[in-house]
Amino acid sequence: MSLDVLVIAPHPDDAELGAAGAILSMRAAGWRVGVLDLTSGEPTPFGSPELRVRETAAATAVLGLDWRENLGLPNRSLEPTLEARGLLAGVIRRTKPRWLLAPYWVDAHPDHVAATQLVEAARFWAKLTKCDLPGSPHHPERIFYYYCVHLKLAPQPAFVLDISSHWETKRAAIECYQSQFVTGRSQDSPTFLERLRDEAAYWGKSIGVRYGEPFASREPIGLRTLAGLV
Ligand SMILES: [Zn+2]
Repeated sequence: MSLDVLVIAPHPDDAELGAAGAILSMRAAGWRVGVLDLTSGEPTPFGSPELRVRETAAATAVLGLDWRENLGLPNRSLEPTLEARGLLAGVIRRTKPRWLLAPYWVDAHPDHVAATQLVEAARFWAKLTKCDLPGSPHHPERIFYYYCVHLKLAPQPAFVLDISSHWETKRAAIECYQSQFVTGRSQDSPTFLERLRDEAAYWGKSIGVRYGEPFASREPIGLRTLAGLV
């Protein structure tokens, strides 16, 4: 089994919040896309482990993912340990993605910062020979970073993807997580979901389309032609 892109998320719902538009766009192009959630994301004020698993399964179906697993690392105390690095490198060697999507490297949530560090270290380890990791060496060519940030950042993304035709499905995937984004939250306008739509509209405006999704990159992005630019 090999994926085109593996999206790695600290908690179930982060991939949806930060990258569902890209996931849907890649799936529409016939790419094989998987999501690896690093932790259960629980406990949360209105969630439970069982409910979160059901919500994740519903969102997975909405996104039409080819593959999704949970690595079972500890929520709220995620650390980029050698053991966790080995586990994640094992998944990368098993799923052989061409690219990785990881959470943006600046965040107030320690799990998110740890997840970024873990992805970068595991990507490097995954290519090692003469080691006791399972499977054969594999090195994903690129990492792009999605924004699912617990800070009032003004991001300076490396590129913005046009997700206009996927916004409604992205919203539907996020709405699967009722325990996280609807239950117990104020329903006064703007609601959490309305703010997300406003953000997507802001990024869309920045590139002259209805809705957009921003991504960061630590490395320059090479283009073969200018034909794909919005
Ligand atoms: Zn999270």
